[in-house]
Amino acid sequence: MERTLKPAARPRVLRVPAYAKVNLGLEVLGVREDGYHELRTLFQTIDLHDDVVIRPRRRGLEVRCDHPDVPQDERNLALRAALELRRHAGIERGAEIAISKRIPVGGGLGGGSSDAAAVLMALDRLWAVGLGPAGLHGLARRLGADVPFFLVGGTALGLARGDEVYPLRCQVRGHVVLVDPGRPISTAAVFARMDRGLTARENSNKIFRFVSSDLEGFRAFPILANDLEQAALEEAPDLADQVGRIRGILIREGAALAALSGSGSSFFGLYDDARRARGAQSALTAAGFIVLRARTVSLDQYRNSWARSLGAWRDARGSNQSRSRHHGDHGRQGHPGRGRKAEGLRVHRV
Ligand code: ATP
Repeated sequence: MERTLKPAARPRVLRVPAYAKVNLGLEVLGVREDGYHELRTLFQTIDLHDDVVIRPRRRGLEVRCDHPDVPQDERNLALRAALELRRHAGIERGAEIAISKRIPVGGGLGGGSSDAAAVLMALDRLWAVGLGPAGLHGLARRLGADVPFFLVGGTALGLARGDEVYPLRCQVRGHVVLVDPGRPISTAAVFARMDRGLTARENSNKIFRFVSSDLEGFRAFPILANDLEQAALEEAPDLADQVGRIRGILIREGAALAALSGSGSSFFGLYDDARRARGAQSALTAAGFIVLRARTVSLDQYRNSWARSLGAWRDARGSNQSRSRHHGDHGRQGHPGRGRKAEGLRVHRV
C-alpha cells in the first residue's frame, strides 16, 4: 500500500531554559553621575533554571507565570523584553510567553533578568530579527543591569553597572549549594543602605586580584566577598542569625567559597566535588533550611545549550524527525553539559 508522507508540521512552541546566576564576588565602588552604582562583580551561571516557553502569534504579546509573586503584566521583565525588541525592530509580531519559575524570586539569583535575556534571544530568532547576542546588548542593558550578562553566561567579569560583561578565559566548574531563606530582599533598599556607608569605603581590588591570580588550585576563592552582605543583613535583620549558621555549615562541609548572591537573599557555597556538595545539602536540610543543589554552567556549556534550543526550532521547521530528536534532547533540560562525567571544581580554559 502506498503511504503518503504528510508535510512537516509547523512547530508550535520554542522552549528555552533561563539559567540563574550567583555572584562569586561583588564590589561596590561608588555612585555614578547617573545615580547607578559603579560595580565590579564576578558572575557565574548555574544550571538551576526557569523554563520559558514561547508560542508565536500573529499579533499580541502576553506573559503567564506560575509564581504568585511574579507580575503577569508589563512589570514582568520578560514581557518588557518582548515589547522592547518588537519596538526596536519595528515589526508587528506577537507571542505568548509562559514562564515556569524554579529560580527563587527576589533571591539575588537574577531570575527576572535571565527570563528577559532568554526572551530577547528566543524572539530574535523566532521573529527573524537577527541581532544576535552582541546586537541585543543595548536593549538588554536598558531592561536591567544584570540582563546583558545572560546574553553571554559562564564565568564573566561585570564592570560599570555590571552591564559591561567580559567572559573570563578561565571558566569555573564546580558544584553549588544554594540556601533559599524563603523571603525576598529588595535590591533597591539594599543599595540605599549601602549608600550611607559608601564614602568611607576603600577599593580593595579583590576581584582584580582574584582574576589575575593563578586560579588552578582554587586557593584564591577565599579572597572574594560580597560588599552588599552587611547592608542586606541590616535590611533583613531576621536573616542575620540564619546566615551565620548557614555559612558555618557550608564552610564546615568544605566550601571553597560561602557568600551571599547579589543583594540576597540566597546564600551559596561553592564545592569542588559532588560528594561534599551533597554533604552540605544534607547538613543544611537537617538544620531545617530549604536547599537547592546545582552545577556551574561554563561559557561553552551556556552557548551549546542555546545553540541546541534555537537549533531545535530551526530543525523543527524542516523535519518532524529532527524535531522529536532535538526536543527529546532538550525537553527535560538537565545540566547543559550532562552526559559528561561529573566534574569537580576546576578551571577550564576557553
Ligand atoms: P534583582 O536583583 O534584579 O531584584 P533578583 O534576582 O533579586 O533580581 P528577581 O527574581 O529577578 O530577583 O525578582 C525581582 C523582582 O522582579 C520581583 O519583585 C518580581 O516580582 C519582579 N519580576 C518581574 N519580572 C519577573 C520575572 N520574569 N521573574 C521574576 N521576577 C520578576
